[in-house]
Amino acid sequence: MTNPSLLILAGDGIGPEVMTEVRKVIDWYGAKRDLAFDVSEDLVGGCAYDAHGTPLTDETMAKAQEADAVLLGAVGGPAYDNLDFSLKPERGLLRLRKEMDLYANLRPAQCFDALADFSSLKADVVGGLDIMIVRELTSGVYFGEPRGIHKEGNERVGVNTQRYTESEIARVARSAFELARKRDNKVCSMEKANVMESGVLWRDVVTEIHAAEYSDVELSHMYADAGAMQLTRWPKQFDVIVTDNLFGDLLSDLAAMLTGSLGMLPSASLGAPMANGRPKALYEPVHGSAPDITGQGKANPIACILSFAMALRYSFDQGEEATRLEQAVEAVLADGLRTADLIGEEGRAPVSTSEMGDAIIAKLDASV
Ligand code: NAD
Repeated sequence: MTNPSLLILAGDGIGPEVMTEVRKVIDWYGAKRDLAFDVSEDLVGGCAYDAHGTPLTDETMAKAQEADAVLLGAVGGPAYDNLDFSLKPERGLLRLRKEMDLYANLRPAQCFDALADFSSLKADVVGGLDIMIVRELTSGVYFGEPRGIHKEGNERVGVNTQRYTESEIARVARSAFELARKRDNKVCSMEKANVMESGVLWRDVVTEIHAAEYSDVELSHMYADAGAMQLTRWPKQFDVIVTDNLFGDLLSDLAAMLTGSLGMLPSASLGAPMANGRPKALYEPVHGSAPDITGQGKANPIACILSFAMALRYSFDQGEEATRLEQAVEAVLADGLRTADLIGEEGRAPVSTSEMGDAIIAKLDASV
């Protein structure tokens, strides 16, 4: 049997630094768990522009389409700020998402007990929190037509259109129900069916898909504004939340920040199943290229390492190994190790990017 393939696009800024630590983890699974990957590396973002004059070549795009999963670091940086819009590093990432048709964006909000005091909410509200927001990523008001700014009489009018088809709602609902089955088996769907027709359709389609295919999963509905309140009041009531592109943009950022630092937050974007049954998939930390700390050994590699844990669970059906990796991260934090972004008032000496990676490997070693 051939090994599953993994395309690594480390990108710019701290992307290569955090990805070096992920490579240690990938190599560990090959050596110690008989779980080897065929890893290839390529360029995306500013580094691809420097080498090829484009943020993503057609060859790299084709490799991403073929790979069982893509793992991305971060793109962007001040050197590229003045480039034409079409050449900016972010266009490389947008092209990947668009051409792979990654319609379900998974943003977990997980609070490790050791970091509960780091949240702006009370420790008992966020301690042990583990929720997943599934945001529809390729349709809705960010893409709907008509759009633009036009003149009506003496004033300008700005227009965007919220538009969803049944099939767009159905496929992201299925992603959420499938995920829930691998978690606590609960989905809460959020929209504004009280004031938006697209919300009425959203609620209808989610309800129909649930009744026909997923009646074993517990389903509830909430208006998105009430959902925002509940997320800050008692977030632990949720397991999987599924919502549209706009509400998901807001709610996933809100939920993510319940748990502390950007350096801790992984994400996955999934598309339709490929011939081998695995979904098209791109895994990446939520953070950017952090030019302010690039090259200083200060970057927290945990967001990128946890993104690989998501790949283990959602692309490679290795849920137990994903849990092993998450527990290794948790154990390192419980020991008090912190990169600079996680140092609070107490002023403990931070560990470097590679020290954090090595400590996680040591915990993995101890787990077998
Ligand atoms: P950023 O996420 O790069 O940094 C925001 C702040 O968080 C900075 O102070 C940074 O030092 C800190 N930070 C981020 N990740 C960290 C980590 N792993 N460990 C420790 N500290 C971390 O966002 P920004 O400063 O707004 O953007 C910088 C560049 O990154 C821009 O060019 C932007 O376009 C790009 N960007 C890329 C992505 C992506 O690749 N997905 C996402 C956001 C921003």
